[in-house]
Amino acid sequence: MRAFARPRVVVSRCLGFDHCRWNGDMITSEVVRMLAPHVDFLPVCAEVEIGLGVPRKPVRTVREQDGERLVQHETGLDVTGRMKRFAASFAATLREIDGFLLKSRSPSCGIRDVKVYRAGGAGDVMGKTAGVFAAAMARQFPHLPAEDEGRLRNRRIREHYLTRIFTLAAFREVRAGGDMQDLATFHTRNKLLLMAYSQKELRELGRITANPEKREFPEVAGEYGDHLNAALSRAPRYTANINVLLHALGRFRGGLSPAEKTFFLDTLEQYRQDRVTICPNLTILRGWIVRFDDDYLREQTFFSPFPAELMGVSEDLSHNQRDYWEK
Ligand code: SF4
Repeated sequence: MRAFARPRVVVSRCLGFDHCRWNGDMITSEVVRMLAPHVDFLPVCAEVEIGLGVPRKPVRTVREQDGERLVQHETGLDVTGRMKRFAASFAATLREIDGFLLKSRSPSCGIRDVKVYRAGGAGDVMGKTAGVFAAAMARQFPHLPAEDEGRLRNRRIREHYLTRIFTLAAFREVRAGGDMQDLATFHTRNKLLLMAYSQKELRELGRITANPEKREFPEVAGEYGDHLNAALSRAPRYTANINVLLHALGRFRGGLSPAEKTFFLDTLEQYRQDRVTICPNLTILRGWIVRFDDDYLREQTFFSPFPAELMGVSEDLSHNQRDYWEK
């Protein structure tokens, strides 16, 4: 059983941690509940932190001539400056974090899909934007995964997000350990995962790990981290996953019957046609890893990039399209 490093994730406090919404409510998020045993959450409520209190009049994003402002509509109070100052001071306190999980559509925490209202209007929506606090975090930590609880109901977005935070947490521990051999082991165990994410970055990370210039660990780990972030920035295409699955199949070719190979390839074709998820092929390969006692594949994070219990979060099937990331 693989041991996982615990990701450190900044989370909107109203997502199950406190009754801090403008009306005193708290949101129940299944993904937060499922993650809680595996993740170290750092809850924050930006609106409470800037002194708005609970309950409070709601704030909204308004488009003024000089840009978007965060305004308490009913009182006219503009808290844009206060929110930006808080976000800057909060960001300065953050160390060793692996991602953000924020409340969807909030004018403070929303990562996208936050309504922008016309200034002085009766409620006309002019477009969508990011919340002021979330936008500041994205500027400060552009390399870290950031999602909202709504988008994480989608299986593919959730798996990509979980893969990133657990991989970054594992790398953070390697980096803290300062041991070049641990970095080499980390790289070896993540080879298939990185192959799925980016062949180009996999080659670059292999070069960095080989360290032909005999550089010191902090310099090597720093460069490795930059390229790891680049590699994980976009979810793998399903064609890249298929290449990795075929690569893994190649290790068993000599020991499989024609019927077994046909069964695997038929299942793979169903995945290619988007009729099943990648899980059936992964399950078949996991069985063969045990049967053929393949140590190399057994260690590969590609087969279990995050704890298996997190596979079970229910999903909103209406948001299950392959191109959900596209704007
Ligand atoms: S969305 Fe953010 S600012 Fe609003 S209540 Fe939740 S944690 Fe607080």
